[in-house]
Amino acid sequence: MSSIQPVRGTHDLIGEDHRRFTHVVETARRIVSLYGFDEWATPIFEDTRVFSRSLGDTSDVVSKEMYTFEDRGGESLTLRPEGTAAICRALVTNGLTQSLPQKVFYAGPMFRYERPQKGRYRQFHQIGAELLGAAEPLADAEVIAMGRDVLRALGIENETVLELNTLGDTASRDAWRTALIAHFSAHRADLSADSQARLERNPLRILDSKDENDRRLVADAPTIAQFLTPEAREFWDDLRRTLDLMGVRFRENPGIVRGLDYYGHTAFEFVTTRLGAQGTVLAGGRYDGLVAEMGGPKTPAIGWAGGIERLSMLLDSTPAEPRPVAIIPMGADAQGAAITVLQGLRAAGIRAETSYRGNMKRRLERANRMKATHAILIGSDEIARGVVQAKDLDSGQQTEVPMDNVAAFLLPGTPGKA
Ligand code: ATP
Ligand code: MG
Repeated sequence: MSSIQPVRGTHDLIGEDHRRFTHVVETARRIVSLYGFDEWATPIFEDTRVFSRSLGDTSDVVSKEMYTFEDRGGESLTLRPEGTAAICRALVTNGLTQSLPQKVFYAGPMFRYERPQKGRYRQFHQIGAELLGAAEPLADAEVIAMGRDVLRALGIENETVLELNTLGDTASRDAWRTALIAHFSAHRADLSADSQARLERNPLRILDSKDENDRRLVADAPTIAQFLTPEAREFWDDLRRTLDLMGVRFRENPGIVRGLDYYGHTAFEFVTTRLGAQGTVLAGGRYDGLVAEMGGPKTPAIGWAGGIERLSMLLDSTPAEPRPVAIIPMGADAQGAAITVLQGLRAAGIRAETSYRGNMKRRLERANRMKATHAILIGSDEIARGVVQAKDLDSGQQTEVPMDNVAAFLLPGTPGKA
């Protein structure tokens, strides 16, 4: 019988892969906590409207990438393709729109029906941060600095460049949009089919197109700079000043627009050249209109999301697997004492394992294979004298240790260690 394969675009995380993954999440958790962010967890699936309302129906995500299905009760549900809309939904439905600002971190799986390739999957995972209820450029700067700090703590800051842009306020964007429509209309026939469809409805989206031809036309499209209102310009100046003050280095790139409809003012991406076309590892921006889309009051907000798989791929080294202590009973009579020592070590916070079968030689081989720091040998002679033999598997040195002192012996710096 042929085995059942994992679904295309999904993958298992085992061993080293899982340790890298966990390292990314735990590092991010530690850093965002320094900025006062708390973790939320929202459901993996939501009412489809959470995404169709917020992401914009011309976005790639909504128009072609969503896993949407009807459940047995006839409701249209969608596996979340991103985290921000759900966090805004949760802010509103949990009555938190009056307790602002909220600083939210999340981590978990996202689902998009995309063409699988290196760094692009159908189930992938994101870490994300949302700062809800702050309209000041300082909030944008803090959120960006926090993203930089996560990359720095992962040791990959130097692998990435921060590309920064402003999308201005609504008035700036409206003027820019008109200019973009004029520009792209003059080259309509050269645009990809997707971009022709975007032309009237959302020309900004063309700027984010991955089509070769589109990219050429995008290169000489008008940029937002000349359309910024005085207020939008002041916001932009203030943000860049604050980032300088925080020592966050960036490169201005007028081509950075986010793929979703809800962004204004700040847009940014940390990009790397090491992952081919899948170069964006962490990206975000300001989305002042989204909470209102979810039925809440108008609430300014800024956030980012990072792709855990892409971040994991950039890690220089894999965090080491913790080394255990191996408990080795010599003969059936020693089993009971071995179990007592084993459980005692675990209770003391020491990773301890025993083999389920085999003679002493086999068990020692296995202890070496799992890179145990020590083998604790227990035979009938040891039991009679209330001791164990603790063998350091790196140096080969063997020490006799009282049976109730094993944990203290193994924990460095603890009184009782020989
Ligand atoms: P891209 O331009 O690569 O399609 P995006 O703009 O669609 O990315 P976002 O919605 O901003 O991506 O998601 C934030 C991050 O999540 C991305 O920068 C990337 O690191 C990661 N990401 C997005 N889609 C995928 C995917 N299909 N597989 C793996 N990681 C992904
Ligand atoms: Mg995408």
